Amino acid sequence: MSTPDGHPIVIIGAGVAGLVAAIELQAAGRAVLVLEAAPDVGGRVRTTVHDGLVIDHGFQVLFTAYPTLRRYLDFDRLALRKFLPAARIARDGQLSLIGDAIADPGLLLDTIVARAIGIGDKLRLLALRRFAQQLSIDDCFSARFAGISTRDFLRARGFGTPVIDGFFAPFYGGILLDRTLATSASILLFTFKMLADGDTVVPAGGIGALTQQMAARLTPGTVRTACAVRALVVTDGRVTGVRLRDDTVLDAAQVVLATDAPSAATLARSIGISLPEPAGARGCTTLYYTARATPIPGKALWLNANADAVISHAATLTDVAPEYATNGRTLIAATAVGAPADLDDATLDAAARRELARMGNVSAERAGLERVALWRVPYSQFEQPPGWREHRPGIACGMHGLWRASETLHSSSLEGAARGGEMAAKAILHAT
Ligand SMILES: Cc1cc2nc3c(=O)[nH]c(=O)nc-3n(C[C@H](O)[C@H](O)[C@H](O)COP(=O)(O)OP(=O)(O)OC[C@H]3O[C@@H](n4cnc5c(N)ncnc54)[C@H](O)[C@@H]3O)c2cc1C
Repeated sequence: MSTPDGHPIVIIGAGVAGLVAAIELQAAGRAVLVLEAAPDVGGRVRTTVHDGLVIDHGFQVLFTAYPTLRRYLDFDRLALRKFLPAARIARDGQLSLIGDAIADPGLLLDTIVARAIGIGDKLRLLALRRFAQQLSIDDCFSARFAGISTRDFLRARGFGTPVIDGFFAPFYGGILLDRTLATSASILLFTFKMLADGDTVVPAGGIGALTQQMAARLTPGTVRTACAVRALVVTDGRVTGVRLRDDTVLDAAQVVLATDAPSAATLARSIGISLPEPAGARGCTTLYYTARATPIPGKALWLNANADAVISHAATLTDVAPEYATNGRTLIAATAVGAPADLDDATLDAAARRELARMGNVSAERAGLERVALWRVPYSQFEQPPGWREHRPGIACGMHGLWRASETLHSSSLEGAARGGEMAAKAILHAT
């Protein structure tokens, strides 16, 4: 079905949110055109294959329990490769493996003897897992948890400073890119629930395979890449189109902002609308290395709990997904978050080499690291401090014809983006 005025619904942005919105609208028979500034689809979920190495644009994982996202993916065809449900904690030359022994009983012994966390905290961790699993996702985001920080929530549950700083800070650095634990406790519970309800995986073809698969569900020609929108066009108090960087104007039945929050705010400002977008960002930098012998072997995520850590977390990707490198090579991802992510390339590289060797207690010579890529993603997730959800943007943007499809409608995650896209599509289908 074509839209009444013959123009397509124009979606700006081909990340998860924009692609999900496009899939839903097209499935309902609407004409859709997706405009993407980058040379390829995927937004923050992209991969480049270079010299037989699968390089994700920043280290990222998928939780298979994400209920909305999984409806838009064919897991079987993605050849998902599982991480161990465990974290290997490196601190002051000591190593501990803290695992989810309910998900994988083989982790029980290592977890019991792990010295990084005392027995009381291990039991509290188990109770927290059970607590999070019993909640619904909506419960996780209820006012009860949304208004307090992760740090305060953990304190209230009896966790002490050593386990908060020595385990939760690097663990949530690895997942939420926030070692300060200032993020709302809702996100902690949501993440714990997702960890407990399913697997943590990467597709064999790289994280970008997720968005490539979504885009392949759209009719050919639906997405135009390398096509940046400069401004919105308003006629008689209604958004009627978009103006591209080269000044071309495209008419639209409706316009959907499916960009990151800062870009959405800029586009809305082009027609005098102020969107209540989250202001703060959490960034990260991932360095990729091949290795003669990986200092951080195995399928667990390695956490750097040393006080002077520059690298927050790291993984030997080819131990999880051998397809990440051809010819039997080893590929490692090491990620810095927060202020260290802004250090210059040479300083980060030197720190990563030093810290990876130290985490695994091997010499730099033996590891034989060679840097093959470095990805900076200053806007990886938006900040989600206590109370942020009370001020999150709505789907309707305050002018006829303009809509918002975004992670900001739910949470800064793959699931949040899928929900944002789906919610926007449903609202448009209902209203037009
Ligand atoms: C390194 C990293 C690690 C992460 N780790 C995890 C994780 O482990 N688990 C998890 O759930 N989430 C993780 N995330 C977050 C997750 O990737 C995002 O929440 C999600 O991808 C956001 O999708 P989106 O569609 O809302 O936005 P985006 O992916 O940002 O898509 C927006 C698109 O809009 C385009 N655009 C912007 N302006 C314009 C314009 N003017 N004209 C045309 N196009 C425009 C952009 O180019 C982009 O493609 C991580 C993110 C990063 C970067």
